[in-house]
Parts: sequence; structure tokens; C-alpha cells
Amino acid sequence: MTRLVILGKQGAGKGTQCALLAKHYHIPHISTGDMLRTTVAEGTHLGLQAKAIMEAGELVSDEIILGIVHERLTQADAQLGFLLDGFPRTDAQAQGLMAMLAPNKIDVALDIDVPDDVVTERMLARGRDDDTPEAMQRRLELYQTETAPLLELFSKGGFLVSVDGLGTELEVHGRVIDAIERNRSL
Ligand code: AMP
Repeated sequence: MTRLVILGKQGAGKGTQCALLAKHYHIPHISTGDMLRTTVAEGTHLGLQAKAIMEAGELVSDEIILGIVHERLTQADAQLGFLLDGFPRTDAQAQGLMAMLAPNKIDVALDIDVPDDVVTERMLARGRDDDTPEAMQRRLELYQTETAPLLELFSKGGFLVSVDGLGTELEVHGRVIDAIERNRSL
């Protein structure tokens, strides 16, 4: 049973590391960003609302996010573990997650640490539709004000593991697995 939360800024390499981790631990990769992009593609009312928020680099409301995560975590494949990518991003989401899981807990909250100038360069190279300079800047600001404080929260709970995100995908992957296994056996 492995329950993981992946933190880290946009462009920290979360997507790539999550794909490798999901394979390694045989757990579903649950990305709120991917789920939102699917909703946007479906063109529902919720999708249209989410699209505007995502394009501006703002955060979709905690209520909506907690609703979609709750629904996803009740599905059969998530009963033996999961990897949460891009969630939680706010204190309310973190509290909501813990309440959803109780009496169980996560095993590890992994922070992939990459400096702002490097993530900005990577984001420019990735060229996703919602990667306008304004949206990128806004996402970094929101990471600092809303998401970075979660590092302390998870650290207090003994769940936090920080890994240097610079280097090749496989170098970072090796560090990530070592760090998760070390923290788990504590
Ligand atoms: P991502 O693919 O994780 O970079 O997410 C893309 C966009 O979806 C973000 O910039 C937000 O607008 C929205 N989003 C994804 N996950 C969340 C979340 N946990 N809380 C609020 N908004 C989110």
C-alpha cells in the first residue's frame, strides 16, 4: 500500500516523475490538472468555468477540487494506494484530504525542489496552451502563498521528503525512490 502526494512548482518535473512512480509502485496517477483538462475538453458548464480559471493561472475552487478528488479516490483502483499530483494546493485541500483518508494517512508527501528560474525556462519550452507569461507568473505566486506553506504542514506530520529536482529524469527518479523508501522505514 503506497499513498503518495507530490508537491512542487509548475515545471518541477512532477508529471514525468509521477509517471515513473506510478509504474514503480503499481498505483494510479491521479492528476487534478489532467482531470480538469478532461472536463474542459468535454465542454460542460463546469469545464467552461475551469478553462477560464486555468488560462489565467488561478486556482479552481477548493470545493470543486475536493469533489473531484473524493470521487476519484472512491474508485476501486485507488483502494490499494495512489499518487496525487497537483493536489493538495491549498490548506483547505490538505485538510480535506486528511479528513477523506481518516483513519488512514498518506505515506509520503514528496517535494521536488527546483529554483524559479529553471522552472520558468522549462515552462517556456513546454509551450502548453495555458502557459502564457502572465499565467506562469501567477502560478508561481500562488505556489508561494498557497502551496509552499503545506510543506511545513506535512513536515510537522513527519510526511515530508524533499528531493533535488535538478538532473536527468532517471537521476531524479533514483533520488525520489531512495527518499520515499528511507522515509517509509523510519
Ligand atoms: P497542473 O496541470 O497541475 O499544472 O494544473 C493546471 C491548472 O489546473 C492549474 O494552473 C490550476 O488552474 C488548475 N488546478 C489543478 N490542480 C488544482 C488544484 N489542486 N487546486 C486548484 N486548481 C488546480
